Amino acid sequence: MKSLLNQTKVMAILGILSGIVLVEACGRRLNPQPSCNFVENQELQRVSWTTDLPVNLYLDSSVPPDYVKPISEAIATWNALGEKINNRDFFILNDGDPGSPTPAQDGYSKIYVMHSWEHSLANEQARTTIYWEGNRIYEADMRIDAANFQFFTDALDRNFAQVDLQSLVLHELGHMLGLAHTTATDSVMQPSLAGGQIRETLGQTDIKDIQCQY
Ligand SMILES: [Zn+2]
Repeated sequence: MKSLLNQTKVMAILGILSGIVLVEACGRRLNPQPSCNFVENQELQRVSWTTDLPVNLYLDSSVPPDYVKPISEAIATWNALGEKINNRDFFILNDGDPGSPTPAQDGYSKIYVMHSWEHSLANEQARTTIYWEGNRIYEADMRIDAANFQFFTDALDRNFAQVDLQSLVLHELGHMLGLAHTTATDSVMQPSLAGGQIRETLGQTDIKDIQCQY
């Protein structure tokens, strides 16, 4: 964990329906790499957790009990890929609720359900913030927008006026791993998720991009 930041850079890539906020601290210069649809630092290197896996995730107390299953299913989908390509999970969902009760750079990677949201960003279903130094992510926080959206937590309860929570969380977990948005039609990292749309499985694009880095 870095305690002193020479410079903090905040960038926003806002998709139609979900966002990612990037907080970059200055690090040593590194050689450029192909992006493979990852967020890149100023030296055009992919940012990722490198070998520091699994990501330790916590659920804030704002996450209702019925959200735990779809969140766990989305985690399991990414972990199945991690186990297949590298015999290693990407995420571990821990018990307890340490750290800040509101999203903050506090040393804990947490998922929050928000009941207030910036009015100017009311079309965002969720937002993931990743913090990195050099090319290494060291924290990521996910906000789910319950101020502007309603969610269904089981495909059997599909509702076209609501958002599939599992599909949304699968996308945001991709941001947590360092992925950016893509227009590839098989990808869970497409910037928008329609009401009632179910996109709960990774596409070949996602698998290829992840294998580029992990
Ligand atoms: Zn997104």
